[in-house]
Amino acid sequence: MIQLVRPTEPESLTRFRARWTTRWTDSLRDGSRIDWATPSAKRILRGLLLALSRGKCAFCEGILRLTSSDEIEHYHAKTVRPELVFDWPNLFPACGICNRSKGDLDHQGRLLKPDTENPELLLWLNPDTGELQPHPALDAEPEQARRVKETIEAYGLQRGALCAQRIEMMDEVNRWLRRIDNQADISQECREEWEKLIHPSRTLKFVIRHVLTLGGQPQLAEIDRQRFRGQV
Ligand SMILES: [Zn+2]
Repeated sequence: MIQLVRPTEPESLTRFRARWTTRWTDSLRDGSRIDWATPSAKRILRGLLLALSRGKCAFCEGILRLTSSDEIEHYHAKTVRPELVFDWPNLFPACGICNRSKGDLDHQGRLLKPDTENPELLLWLNPDTGELQPHPALDAEPEQARRVKETIEAYGLQRGALCAQRIEMMDEVNRWLRRIDNQADISQECREEWEKLIHPSRTLKFVIRHVLTLGGQPQLAEIDRQRFRGQV
């Protein structure tokens, strides 16, 4: 999970938000079992949300439409806070696994919210298991550490396949770091690998930045952040 920069509410959502929300809140009130959004509303939202995360799940960073279906995650569940069902800051792009894992959990705002706080300051990576855990700096902030653990559990971020992918990515970045360390002049091949690593659509940015930083290259992690934000 990394920080996402959310643009202001798109006009295409502003125009229909009230009507779409009423459709959902009315259906909850009268018990009619309709989907929370029409296919056309979902189509509009999906396009907007995929741009927000560069095509990845906002939580596990899996590439959507490639490894998993893309779904729309409501930070506050649409049954818990139905009035927020089309509230722009409440919507995230997510894979089906993360979305269904969290389900209708009523977390009262305790879960990490990657558009308003920086997960890189809150999460840490276990280098042996690929598991996420609270950042060591949170030892002095048990309430924040609890939020991190609850988020990891809610979205199922310790699932085995995900931990294995994180280990693979750690190995890939560490191999790259060793190669540039041994070269007086960076080879073309190394440059090409670097471009692939920092491509904004690449999966597991959290892992890439974490390994670069711990590997003594925090400035490269910063380049990756800027590239993701479209600043360089
Ligand atoms: Zn996911």
